[in-house]
Amino acid sequence: MFENTVKSVLDLWAAKQMDSDLRVFARDLSDSQGELRSQILTYATSKSVFYREHMAQIMDGAQGGGQLVRDWQSVPFTTAEDIKTRGREMLCCSQDVIKRVVTLETSGTTGTPKRLYFTANDQKRTIDYFRVGMDTFTKAGDKVLVLLPCEREGSIGKLLGEALKLGGKTPILKGVVKDLVATFEAIETTEPDVIVGIPFQVLALVKYGVFMNRPITTVKKMLLSTDFVSETALKTIEQYWHCEVFRYYGMTETGFGGGIECSCHEGYHLYEPDFYIEIVDPDTGICLPEGALGEVVITTLKREGMPLIRYRTGDQSRMISEYCSCGSVLKRLDAIRTRLEGSVKLRGGHELTKGAVDDVLLDIQALLDYKIQFKRHKTRDALYLQLYYLADIVDEQLIIERLKNIVTIQSALEQNELEIGVNSIIVSTEYCPHPAKRKIEE
Ligand SMILES: [Zn+2]
Repeated sequence: MFENTVKSVLDLWAAKQMDSDLRVFARDLSDSQGELRSQILTYATSKSVFYREHMAQIMDGAQGGGQLVRDWQSVPFTTAEDIKTRGREMLCCSQDVIKRVVTLETSGTTGTPKRLYFTANDQKRTIDYFRVGMDTFTKAGDKVLVLLPCEREGSIGKLLGEALKLGGKTPILKGVVKDLVATFEAIETTEPDVIVGIPFQVLALVKYGVFMNRPITTVKKMLLSTDFVSETALKTIEQYWHCEVFRYYGMTETGFGGGIECSCHEGYHLYEPDFYIEIVDPDTGICLPEGALGEVVITTLKREGMPLIRYRTGDQSRMISEYCSCGSVLKRLDAIRTRLEGSVKLRGGHELTKGAVDDVLLDIQALLDYKIQFKRHKTRDALYLQLYYLADIVDEQLIIERLKNIVTIQSALEQNELEIGVNSIIVSTEYCPHPAKRKIEE
C-alpha cells in the first residue's frame, strides 16, 4: 500500500508550489526562494507603511528587491515589539480584506498584545499547511481529535478541521483542555486514532489516565504544536500510550506554517516554498553557518495580509545539514530546544530555560503542572517553584536534587548565588495546565 510520508507528500506539495518537477525541484529551490524573497520585499515596501519606513535606509539606491536579496543580511529584522507596537502598519492591504485578527495573550499586566492579521488567502494557505502536514503521517478515514482552540470562525482548530476533511479524515473538534476528566472521557468515547494538542495539556491527560489506571490504546499517533516540547514530555507520552508523537513547527505569526517531523523524528522538514529560515547569533544578529545553534529568524514568502520579513522568533535551534534518511530533499530545522523569550539569565550570564527545567521534572508521574518564578535580589537570586500534583507529592529535597542536574543551577548553587523554594500542592482532577506558551516568570 502507498504510504504517506514527508517525502511522498510534503516534497510533492513543495515541488508543486514551485511549479517544478520533483526531480529538479531540489536544485532550483534556493533560486526560487531568492526570487520569492525579492518579491515579498518589493510587495511589503510598496504596500505597508511600516515596511516602507523600516526598509527605507536599505531601499535607498537599491534597485528593488533583487539587489537586496544578494545582500540579505542588510535587511533589518522584524521583532515581536514591532508587531506589538506597529502591527496595523505592517498590513499590506486594507482592513476590509482582513478576515481574521488573532490576538496573542501575553502574561503579566504590562504586556501589549500581539495582533496578527490574516486575509482569506492567508487562511487558505493555513488550511493547506495543515492538510499537507497531517497527510504526511495519517491516512484517509482516521479519526482525529483536535484539542486546539476551536470556538471561533477561522480559529486554528476550525482551520485544522477543514484541512482534515479535505484529506479524507474525520475531525472531532473538542477545543483546548479545560477539564481533564471531561476531555479524558471524550477520548474514551470517541476512540480517536490521532490526537492533535498542546504539549503540556496532552501530557497532563496522559498522566491522569495512568493515575486513574484507565489505559488508552486507540491513539496511534499524536501531533504536538503551539509550544516547544521537551524530550522528557515526549518520551513520557510515548511510553504510557505507546503512540508515535510528531512535533510540528508553526506559530500564529507564520499562519501556523513552518515544518513537520517525519517518522525519523530528526528535526522539522521545512515548508520551504512559503518560508525562508535563517539561524542568527542572538547577540550580534549575524547569520550563522549550517549546524550552529542560534535564534530562528523567519521570512514569510507568500503572506498577503501581514508578511513578516526576517522575524526574530525567539526560538533556539540549528539547521541540520545532512539529508534525512527518509529521502526528503526539504531542509531540516532541529527540534526547538529552548525559547529565548521566557528564559532568564542567572548571575554570570548563564541562561536558564523552561525547557531545561521541563527535562528534569516532567517524568515525575503524578506531577501535572508547575509554575516557576525567578527573582533578582541584591546578594542572592531566588527561584520559586509551585508544583501541582495529582497525588504523591515528591519531597522538596528530591526536587532540588533533580534541579541540580541543570548545570547552570548547579553552579549557581555552588557559588551561593541562588536559593530555591519549592511549594507543592495536590489539585483536583478537574485541574488542567493553561494552554498559553510557558515561560519562567520574572
Ligand atoms: Zn525525514
